[in-house]
Amino acid sequence: MTTIADNITAVAARIAAAAQAAGRDSAAIGLLAVSKTKPAAAVREAYAAGLRDFGENYLQEALGKQAELTDLPLCWHFIGPIQSNKTRAIAEHFDWVHSVDRLKIAQRLSEQRPANLPPLNICIQVNVSGEASKSGCTPADLPALATAIADLPNLRLRGLMAIPEPTEDRAAQDAAFAAVRTLQDSLNLPLDTLSMGMSHDLESAIAQGATWVRIGTALFGARDYGQA
Ligand SMILES: *Cc1c(COP(=O)(O)O)cnc(C)c1O
Repeated sequence: MTTIADNITAVAARIAAAAQAAGRDSAAIGLLAVSKTKPAAAVREAYAAGLRDFGENYLQEALGKQAELTDLPLCWHFIGPIQSNKTRAIAEHFDWVHSVDRLKIAQRLSEQRPANLPPLNICIQVNVSGEASKSGCTPADLPALATAIADLPNLRLRGLMAIPEPTEDRAAQDAAFAAVRTLQDSLNLPLDTLSMGMSHDLESAIAQGATWVRIGTALFGARDYGQA
């Protein structure tokens, strides 16, 4: 049976190979371990094998896990859809939010970010697959949203996040990720982050400039939502 440590070694090798193929420094690509539906013990195992950044989609589940792991210096990333009534807890308990797609949510996160914490790192989720995905702002709405978020005092806008529609066609996958990078470049803002690429498409995302790949299945195995 493969362990989480074995899986981390394998994913790190995929990242290194993809970076080399793209002529990029693999140190510029962060591995964000997506631990949704997995127990705190799995996070602890991944931490022991060297990972520090963990992504969660469901607030209550994340808060429970965080409470079990307060002895570890972890960096927590919220990557799921955000309802207004969840913003206070997210502002209080996370270091990054990758899934901001409207101004109202960003304003609440800024207002509710505790004064003793550094600015909350923000990625705007953008929908580059049209109707195939419900989450994310439209490319047309992105410039105004990014400018407004960049002005909020307790947030630090870092870049864009996207989940393009999965496809077996590598050229189409590359084009979708390239579109995210092109959108980022078109914003005249000092952004340094492209959160894109998951277990099945991290090579394509890295080829197009990803700086965070968000990896769940390839690290922790398949998720069983029936048990969650
Ligand atoms: C679940 C999830 C991931 C991880 O997906 P895998 O295919 O398991 O690697 C990445 N990003 C987001 C936003 C997710 O919800």
